[in-house]
Amino acid sequence: MNKSTTVVGAGAIGLSTAWELAQRGFNVTVIDKSVTGRGTSWAGAGILPPANLRNSFDPIDRLRGLSHHLFPEWAEKLKTNTGIDPGLQRCGGLYLAETAGEIAAMSGMTEYWQEMEIDCKQLTSNEIIGQEAALADWWRHTNNAAAWHVPDEYQLRSPNYLAALKTACHQLGVTFLENTDVTDIRYLGGRAEIQYEGNWHTTDGIVLTTGVWTGQLAASLDLELSIVPIRGQILLLKTSRPLIRNIINMGQRYVLAREDGHTLIGSNEEEIGFELGTTDSVLKSLLDFATHLLPDLKAAEHVKSWSGLRPMTFDGFPMIGPVPGVENLYVAAGHHRSGLHLSPGTAVLIADMLSQVKPQIPIDAFQIRTQKRNHDVRSYTAT
Ligand SMILES: Cc1cc2nc3c(=O)[nH]c(=O)nc-3n(C[C@H](O)[C@H](O)[C@H](O)COP(=O)(O)OP(=O)(O)OC[C@H]3O[C@@H](n4cnc5c(N)ncnc54)[C@H](O)[C@@H]3O)c2cc1C
Repeated sequence: MNKSTTVVGAGAIGLSTAWELAQRGFNVTVIDKSVTGRGTSWAGAGILPPANLRNSFDPIDRLRGLSHHLFPEWAEKLKTNTGIDPGLQRCGGLYLAETAGEIAAMSGMTEYWQEMEIDCKQLTSNEIIGQEAALADWWRHTNNAAAWHVPDEYQLRSPNYLAALKTACHQLGVTFLENTDVTDIRYLGGRAEIQYEGNWHTTDGIVLTTGVWTGQLAASLDLELSIVPIRGQILLLKTSRPLIRNIINMGQRYVLAREDGHTLIGSNEEEIGFELGTTDSVLKSLLDFATHLLPDLKAAEHVKSWSGLRPMTFDGFPMIGPVPGVENLYVAAGHHRSGLHLSPGTAVLIADMLSQVKPQIPIDAFQIRTQKRNHDVRSYTAT
């Protein structure tokens, strides 16, 4: 094979794509404007909610199912090959609800999971305390609360996953160009060229895995309004031992404990452009949320906080596929809240396309779509 491919962007999507391509014999170069794995992927909590490839029909659930199926094998292989443990653990998830609206939303969610044959059980009082003794106070003091247990939820240590992917790529001869900004794209005779370090370059395949920055890089693709940054903040605490085993989810917020007692509390959604940073008000609301559920966290050490920019698309589907009319250009971006989870599946789909193999799941829903200023949605046509 030995086709040359350039992957622009060294986050979870770019690194997993590079690894998959290198394993298939492609000659891969990864370019990042910063250092590898310090974009949004580094900021992600690493929650992989349950999924089932076999019984899912919605395109995003199929992609989630494919990734979920691949993750254990990927994590094991990365650990064996590189000696870096990505920290994948099938820790389970608890989904809590306190209000009638939250209970209704969760009932809908659990019915949907059951349709996909995803194991999910509403818990009795004894079962909740059996799962997580640290929730006993919250359960006693909250009238009409409800909880569901989902065994097939995983957690991943995002920085370790990225470090393992980078090492695995190195082992297969992938070239890394860090601190190298790709500044433009042009099209010559139906082929794309990218500009960096003042020169134009092309390879057999070019894959843009540039997350929230995809619209800025490829102005000609008109994706600026199609992939929008949504900031999320995380607070990290530390206890001497983990207070919980399961990931505790409530609406869009969660508490997640690592084996060493580091406890992540996330997150929120803010649409404020490309600005990173945390705010006292959001961090306080995350702390209030977590201590309301787990009062023992009041005594925890405050370690640090951070934020990241999630690449949201206007219709909720990532864009994974070729740019029509351009022979060698592909996009894999816009994975919003699930880019870590969806990275193995995305990598396999892109590698299938570049290898001219029929993709393992239908990909029509992921084709490149643009959102115009007048809110007219259209498919991309290269000019
Ligand atoms: C607070 C928070 C919590 C999250 N929790 C989870 C979770 O629990 N589970 C989950 O699955 N997902 C989670 N996510 C979402 C997930 O982190 C993202 O979907 C994912 O990181 C996107 O990966 P990416 O590779 O597309 O982007 P990135 O990781 O941002 O990588 C893009 C890379 O492209 C590079 N780049 C950009 N422009 C250029 C250019 N012009 N030239 C060269 N390089 C360029 C950047 O430097 C960057 O390294 C979370 C996100 C946040 C913010």
